[in-house]
Amino acid sequence: MAAIEVGILGATGMVGQQFVALLANHPWFKVTWLGASQRSEGKAYRDATAWRLPSPLPPDVARLMVEQAAPGRAPKLMFSGLDAAVAGDIERAFAEAGHVIVSNARNYRMEADVPLLVPEINADHLALLDAQAAARGWKGRIVTNPNCSTVVLTMALGPLRQFGLEKVMITTMQAVSGAGYPGVPSWDILGNVIPFIDGEEEKIQTETKKILGCLAGARVEPHAVTVSASTNRVAVHNGHTESISVALEQSPSEEAIIDAFNTFKGRPQQLELPSAPRQPVVYVAERNRPQPSLDANRDGGMTVTVGRLRRCPVLDYKFIALGHNTIRGAAGAAILNAELMHREGML
Ligand code: NAP
Repeated sequence: MAAIEVGILGATGMVGQQFVALLANHPWFKVTWLGASQRSEGKAYRDATAWRLPSPLPPDVARLMVEQAAPGRAPKLMFSGLDAAVAGDIERAFAEAGHVIVSNARNYRMEADVPLLVPEINADHLALLDAQAAARGWKGRIVTNPNCSTVVLTMALGPLRQFGLEKVMITTMQAVSGAGYPGVPSWDILGNVIPFIDGEEEKIQTETKKILGCLAGARVEPHAVTVSASTNRVAVHNGHTESISVALEQSPSEEAIIDAFNTFKGRPQQLELPSAPRQPVVYVAERNRPQPSLDANRDGGMTVTVGRLRRCPVLDYKFIALGHNTIRGAAGAAILNAELMHREGML
């Protein structure tokens, strides 16, 4: 099969670099186009960005020139790691011009006709693309993945949906890589915890209900679960850790919940998509896990690790969940979405 050419919008950013790294040896997709701001335009990629990932910068991508973030010569399939301040207009321009945008940015996530995908949970929400085509008159499409904390939360809640999710309390401990580059000043974060991330709590509370919701014709009926989120930035490089309490309609045993985590599977596993983790949620029994430095990279950073399940005296159960924010929470999630669209014949 000939490689499918792909472009990356926001290629020089934290998420953009992760796209480049994850697509380096991809069996289907080949990066042939990069776009970023005027600061980077016209430079070779290796000069436009300070490479910050442990894997080497692929030489064929290092040589590519960074282009203006405008449609024209870009390939049909575009990944977006654009700053949300500009993603709205730029992604719309590409969709109008016939591109398929698989985006990390928040701008279109909550639009009624835009799929907000965690493909293990709601692959069927891709059907919204028919309504999008009818409503917008775009030649192309926009598909989104959630906020990085929401991905980790919904991957942990997906296996519990069968027990009737009623209420969720979540407190996050979020890595600095989630704030982009250069992100939070070292003076603010070293030896410190910042108990505020702008807009994050609202995103977790609303996106979760859409993702866990049911497709009803041309729209998604949000899940009835009530979510209360508190978010914190902590001095960790990669990996968002989340302390989660849940109230459930049913009264499952601890063993039943652990079994639900470990046996959880979805469409990506069924289709054996190249980026699909074999076991998307792994429960670890050690009393002091999961930890970002030990567990964030599990199965290439695409698996969410859960541990410390115990009774909650306020709600029913509480546990810790952890996921890699720029892989499962961003670039890896978008690549999995594009793989799903390809296998479902939507590219
Ligand atoms: P970042 O490191 O700040 O990168 C932002 C990118 O946007 C850079 O490539 C930048 O290009 C480009 N950009 C800025 N202004 C532009 C303009 N006027 N025209 C074209 N390109 C422009 O941010 P990030 O952490 O990678 O996040 C990217 C997006 O993904 C955001 O929407 C963010 O909310 C979302 N997201 C991030 C994470 C995470 O864990 N980091 C997780 C989920 C979602 P220059 O280098 O040329 O300025």
